[in-house]
Amino acid sequence: MSEPVVLRWQMPAPIRGAGGRVAACPECGLMVRLILAMDLDDHSDEPSYLTCPGGHTWPEAAIPRRLGALLLAEILESDPGLYGRLDELREIYGNG
Ligand SMILES: [Zn+2]
Repeated sequence: MSEPVVLRWQMPAPIRGAGGRVAACPECGLMVRLILAMDLDDHSDEPSYLTCPGGHTWPEAAIPRRLGALLLAEILESDPGLYGRLDELREIYGNG
């Protein structure tokens, strides 16, 4: 059984989700540098968890987890070397 590929990734640009809605922190309204928790194997419509630079975490209904899985797949495809660095990245961005 392999470890699930879960990564928390800081998105440099605002994240546009379902219906064109842009994810924003419900507490401080920040829309950039949000950290998105992505699970490569979770293709559900459950909300993804986001964390803003202020440390607020919330489930973002506009970003279903299947979108996060897609984003993570694209990130890994564009930079396959990341696979070997997942542990390192988890240490930087935390996990879970
Ligand atoms: Zn916030």
